[in-house]
Amino acid sequence: MSAIYSVAMTEGTDARLREHLVREDGQEDLCFALYRPSRGERRLTGLIGDVLLPQDEDRQVHYNASFNPCYFERAISEAIRKECGLALLHTHPLATGWQDLSEADHLAESGMAAAVQSATGLPLGGLTLSGKSGFWSARFWHQADSRVWDRVDCENVRVVGLDLAISVCPRVKPDFDIPEALKRTVHAWGPGAQQALAHLRVGIVGLGSVGSLLSEQLARSGFTEVIGIDPDVMKEHNRDRTLHASKETIEKAMPKVEVARSHALCSATMPCFRFRALECGIQEEKAYRAALDCDVILSGVDRPWPRSIMNHLSYAALMPVIDGGIKVSLKGDGTLRSADWGAFVVGPGRRCLECAEQFDAGLVAVEHDGDLDDPAYIEGLPEDSPLKKSENVFVFSTALAASIVLKLVQLIGKPSGLHAPMEERYTFPASHAEVINEAKCGTNCWFRGIVGQGDAAGSPLA
Ligand SMILES: [Zn+2]
Ligand SMILES: [Zn+2]
Repeated sequence: MSAIYSVAMTEGTDARLREHLVREDGQEDLCFALYRPSRGERRLTGLIGDVLLPQDEDRQVHYNASFNPCYFERAISEAIRKECGLALLHTHPLATGWQDLSEADHLAESGMAAAVQSATGLPLGGLTLSGKSGFWSARFWHQADSRVWDRVDCENVRVVGLDLAISVCPRVKPDFDIPEALKRTVHAWGPGAQQALAHLRVGIVGLGSVGSLLSEQLARSGFTEVIGIDPDVMKEHNRDRTLHASKETIEKAMPKVEVARSHALCSATMPCFRFRALECGIQEEKAYRAALDCDVILSGVDRPWPRSIMNHLSYAALMPVIDGGIKVSLKGDGTLRSADWGAFVVGPGRRCLECAEQFDAGLVAVEHDGDLDDPAYIEGLPEDSPLKKSENVFVFSTALAASIVLKLVQLIGKPSGLHAPMEERYTFPASHAEVINEAKCGTNCWFRGIVGQGDAAGSPLA
């Protein structure tokens, strides 16, 4: 499998870059920026962080901007000092879509590729901003032979925050032919949103009651690439709540992720639909690296350790994670008082899963030590511990799974101009819906400090 490249940045970095690069006088401009690598199984993502704005003496703006050696030298020393990669960014003021390199662009970038690689140990990144639309194009430079440096186009550039805005490279990922089977879906949310959704690589962590439904929804709705992660096999107690759990799958102790995969392949509306099944938890290196290759993660797990890993990944690698939770409350006589379910969209610019109390950091260590699988430990927990509760119904999971996928549609397509909320909660039978948009992480939240740090944030698996 050949390597894939991508670039990601926060909405704040994107805004800062646009403010500098899109000039009122309509001329091109340029700047250097540092990036930190985030290495997945197959994909290297350059996470653009520090923007090194030029001083007046650093460059000339004369329709085609050019920089002076002093600026390049300063940028290289900053990259070395901060142990980062270096990227050169410039504008094409009148452009709208993915940009090719002009001869001058090619000369400028290829001419500095060797020096940047040897000084930083990382390939030079090049980005072009289309001034009219805010669309990004990106590439990295690799040595083809002793003298020639070749550019490798990124598959996409992701701007992450309240929305997930993805600029897709048409050479790496051409637009799809949308089949007749998806006619009504496309009529509902439009061909642009359909292409954007179809280009996503989506991870589903946990293929149980919620995850099995997420998989089915993505397959039918025209998604093309899913990576499923789940270590468990089908058991009798899954039958009332897990899609496609059957007597046969239980007798054969089939892996949940394999059951989801085989049915998703049957349900898929896009002929090129792929589902990669990883029969392990996201706590394992292989699954964690595969998750880093995704553009967005949907969570169908309720344990603290996998949630803490997804939380880490979301901020360190700039990747939106949409998680869900269901809480069933009973009356003293054992009948249903209420059921609450909520979808949480987390990532840079949004409140994290720990601050939203979707996991307890203290319990991550407990799970790590294996105690959450020890019946005696669970027995000793207080009666109201969420880990002790197992009440759930298929229809609650169905409602939650729909809410999670709708948040994904909102994150990408922003229908009616509305951002995906940070949280959306629903209470049955009160029919009470609540949307939370203003939540923030606590001032001591550790995850605020790892935004865009990529591999330098350390591994959350240890
Ligand atoms: Zn150019
Ligand atoms: Zn937080």
